[in-house]
Amino acid sequence: MVTYLGKLGELSLKGSNLKQFEALLLKNTKNYLLSIDAKVRMSSGRLYIECEEKDKDAVEFTLNHLIGITGWAKAKVVEKDIKKIQDEILILAQKAKENGAKTFKIEAKRSDKSFPLDSYGIMREAGNLVFDGGILSVDVHNPDITFTVEIRDKAYVYSDSIKTCRGLPVGASGKGLLLLSGGLDSPVAGYRMMRRGMIVECIYFHSYPYTSKEAQEKVESLAQTLSFFGLRTHLNIIPFTQVQMQIKKKSPENYTTLMLRMCMMKVASMLAKKIDADCLITGESLGQVASQTIQNMAVTEHACSLPLLRPLVALDKEEIIQTSREIGTYETSILPYEDCCVLFSPKHPILRAKLSEADEIFKNLEVDELLQKAFDERQLKRYEVAGFVAEKWGTKENRERLIATNGILIPKD
Ligand code: ATP
Ligand code: MG
Repeated sequence: MVTYLGKLGELSLKGSNLKQFEALLLKNTKNYLLSIDAKVRMSSGRLYIECEEKDKDAVEFTLNHLIGITGWAKAKVVEKDIKKIQDEILILAQKAKENGAKTFKIEAKRSDKSFPLDSYGIMREAGNLVFDGGILSVDVHNPDITFTVEIRDKAYVYSDSIKTCRGLPVGASGKGLLLLSGGLDSPVAGYRMMRRGMIVECIYFHSYPYTSKEAQEKVESLAQTLSFFGLRTHLNIIPFTQVQMQIKKKSPENYTTLMLRMCMMKVASMLAKKIDADCLITGESLGQVASQTIQNMAVTEHACSLPLLRPLVALDKEEIIQTSREIGTYETSILPYEDCCVLFSPKHPILRAKLSEADEIFKNLEVDELLQKAFDERQLKRYEVAGFVAEKWGTKENRERLIATNGILIPKD
């Protein structure tokens, strides 16, 4: 048996709501592991997962993506006996030395106050042995390795703890509809909101055949990656070619991009109402491209009937790229298939649009029926992380049980 400990971050500050948040985190964790025979429980501020050696990869995948924990560790579980604890620390210290570590420190937490040594006593008893045995030397400020002992129902001993995403468990903060394009920004924007506990659904506008099938596949792949964090992603695909043609025909060239944005916002607002989303989300960042000046963003926002969240508005491209690497969307986002066609891109887009002028041009587009038609012709694809885990690590029997009991789609389609 292998035991993992997940550490709760901001959750532990939630006071009277703590129980509710913990229950949500527990439910989310179990959802990842529906096809795996793992035991998941929550107790005094820690998430515990126990599984067999063969299921380690599935559990570590879960802990590396689960939102609501700050980090996790694979722990050795022993009796609450200082001798047993010392033995484990010695094994870990030897291993660390073999891997090149020279210095260490020990941290101890005693939740069970009946344990005869206090935290300081545990640190002293376990640390002296490593130091006196000449295995490693002490450095409390900048150690090569930190050993942790937690005295709870049992004693938990571990060395490498992995830091992951912080935030609040998905489902704690309402639902948002993300405008997901194939670029670098919007997947990061969706992930950022998931980290604040939001359920994120997606909408993508394509202009086939002016945009390619590959561009859509890119978005599908990004939606699946987002489901690794958000548990499930529903991707709504909207055919927008006729709307784009109409804009090209009726709008002054310098306003076409902005008109397209307004049209997207109108349809996204329609969908948001239908799926009970509380807000729209985009990957816009101030000044990044012509359509993202503050004046143009004001026009875009005016076309929404729900709050519009722009989690990246004040981030630099480098910061966005760093997050996209961390969450695994970077390689897909930089694939060269464009989500808009040069045919529809103006040479000189307006930089500081006026709301009244934009409204007037929008009215003249006479695009309402086309927007309704595009909305009605939407397609839905669903990506479930439980299905992904089942397909990759679940046994055949578990997979069948999962499909039978949950009707969960395996992510291909
Ligand atoms: P991204 O990297 O997210 O594609 P971008 O820098 O290319 O962004 P724009 O193309 O101006 O910027 O798009 C701004 C935002 O509008 C995107 O972040 C996304 O939220 C939304 N958006 C743009 N194109 C589409 C599309 N085809 N479908 C859905 N949303 C879109
Ligand atoms: Mg884009």
